[in-house]
Amino acid sequence: MDNRIYIHIDMNSYFASVEQQANPFLRGKAIAITGKREDDQEQTRSIVTTASIEAKMLGVKTAMSTWEAKRLCPSLILYPGDPEKYADITRRFNAIFQEFTHKVDEFSVDESFLDVTEEAGDYLGATFIAQAIRTRLKEECGERITASIGIGPNKLMAKLIGESVKPNGLTVIYPHELLAFIDTCKLEDLCGIGPRMSERLRELGLFTFKQIRECDLKRLQKEFNSYGTWLYESAHGRENTTIHSSVQNSSFTSNHNFQTYEQPKSVGHSYTLPHDTHDPLEIKRYLLTLSDKVAWRLRRDGLLARRVKAFVRYGDFSGVEQQRLFQEPTADGYNLFQNAWMILKRLYNPEQAVRLVGISVSELSCGPGQSSLFKKEQKMSSVLSALDQIQYRYGEQGWTRAVLLNTKLKSRSSGFHFDHEL
Ligand SMILES: [Mg+2]
Repeated sequence: MDNRIYIHIDMNSYFASVEQQANPFLRGKAIAITGKREDDQEQTRSIVTTASIEAKMLGVKTAMSTWEAKRLCPSLILYPGDPEKYADITRRFNAIFQEFTHKVDEFSVDESFLDVTEEAGDYLGATFIAQAIRTRLKEECGERITASIGIGPNKLMAKLIGESVKPNGLTVIYPHELLAFIDTCKLEDLCGIGPRMSERLRELGLFTFKQIRECDLKRLQKEFNSYGTWLYESAHGRENTTIHSSVQNSSFTSNHNFQTYEQPKSVGHSYTLPHDTHDPLEIKRYLLTLSDKVAWRLRRDGLLARRVKAFVRYGDFSGVEQQRLFQEPTADGYNLFQNAWMILKRLYNPEQAVRLVGISVSELSCGPGQSSLFKKEQKMSSVLSALDQIQYRYGEQGWTRAVLLNTKLKSRSSGFHFDHEL
């Protein structure tokens, strides 16, 4: 194993901190960022996407309904989210990270991994880099926008380490301290162990990483398929990457090559259903929701995709996936959905309960390209750009398809165990 050094940087209470930075009136106050506009009456039925540090101290949590949050904390200020503003700050801080290394992997809107092996030389060097980044963040984004930083030998561990001290912590774990550190963590602290997996592990009598290390690998593999190897390796502080290509949705990053900042190689989204299901209609509804999300990201970034891949994972953690090519590159969610469903319809085993649905697209090119010759498609693309305007202004909840009114993805913010961008 080569000795690499990674820094994981996670912004604290990100959306709330951005708003507090932008508006002094909100500083020091319990605020919650919601998915809706302020003058929208529906706001009371929205959920908390981010709570400020002050609100968290009063018990307000991510993904809580605003109604519940208000009841808990009557002085809570509900503040409508501004996705464009957050995306802008995200671009800014990733540009700062790029000053220190070109190997920046954006994991989500408020988290990135930096491979600083060459730049840092050793862990002390990495600590200096982390401190320098902190100073740059303060200068460039303002002192309200703070981050938790973890330094470790791989991404998985750097994230686990960074999350051990929140907010505004900087934690370094040297390789020789790693196992001792892991043993202080709870199983569900590890990115990739969701509630269901930890429940299964408990049923098997596995409560600690030490017990997983001492467990027979074959037994873990039998129980969790490729995730068994992943668990075993993780418990040793190693990041096993082979799993990520077997089912393209590990709970961890999708793409282990560092992507260049300019253009992603693939865009995808997967979602763990609230319950395992046999119902094709339900699977279709989630697939359409995910397709729309993927298509929106394509259009936002001016991209078209030529290849689509659809995948499901079953209750026993096994999974199937397949891909197909489009004749014409597309960024239309319904088109993505139709093709993804064509794949899944044939592929998935209706006897087995589906636990997770996902779609990803690749072979991306810069769009919109030449406009279509067909009237119907021209019309569709002007409808899409009107919908995109709505989404820019009001965020992802700005519009939805009538058939999807009852299909909502739970917020990913409390954990991408449920929902992640790939
Ligand atoms: Mg964060």
